[in-house]
Amino acid sequence: MEPVPQAPISPTSLQTEVPQALITDKVCPFCHIALKDDYYFCPNCGKKLKDPPMTAAKEIGIYLLSVLLPPLGLWPGIRYILSGNAKTRRVGWIAVGLTVLATIITIWLFMGFMNGLTQGLNSSLNQYQSLGGY
Ligand SMILES: [Zn+2]
Repeated sequence: MEPVPQAPISPTSLQTEVPQALITDKVCPFCHIALKDDYYFCPNCGKKLKDPPMTAAKEIGIYLLSVLLPPLGLWPGIRYILSGNAKTRRVGWIAVGLTVLATIITIWLFMGFMNGLTQGLNSSLNQYQSLGGY
């Protein structure tokens, strides 16, 4: 019985592991300069390459607007959904979702408050009637 020979690890199989992300072939569509990073504005000609990023402050601002002032958050939310940027679109959907949620919660709280008010009023009236009897 002969031992099965181990297949030698070929160097080509190791080379396939090189991440493709290291190689960037981005160029500015206006001045054709090579871009190393994911720029929003070309460092050479200053032209806009893509929509500026959604900043954390802007993102939190729109969420707060959606939650605290429900109908107002809807407009920037819809505008963001129509944006070409995937992250901006996601923020838009969350903002619209929060607006809908905040509206439902507001109505629900208001109805709960009204129910509580009428129930409280009724029970105190009942207590008054049962205690006094007049
Ligand atoms: Zn350029």
